Amino acid sequence: MVPITENNTPMAQYQCPDCGYIYDEAHGCPREGFAAGTRWASLPDDFPCPECFVREKPDFLPLTDAALRA
Ligand SMILES: [Zn+2]
Repeated sequence: MVPITENNTPMAQYQCPDCGYIYDEAHGCPREGFAAGTRWASLPDDFPCPECFVREKPDFLPLTDAALRA
């Protein structure tokens, strides 16, 4: 059983301000090549929203306490 968290840090979610797509660290974005559990901090700064391709990583809004603390 692989733990879903590393360093006991809860998985965070980030939302695209345009289309509402949510990047969940627990799910990653496999179709873009990011496996489940990929941390937001590990994504490249030019990571595009996989739904609208308009917004990039710096535009996303943190949705969780864990994200806000990061
Ligand atoms: Zn979007």
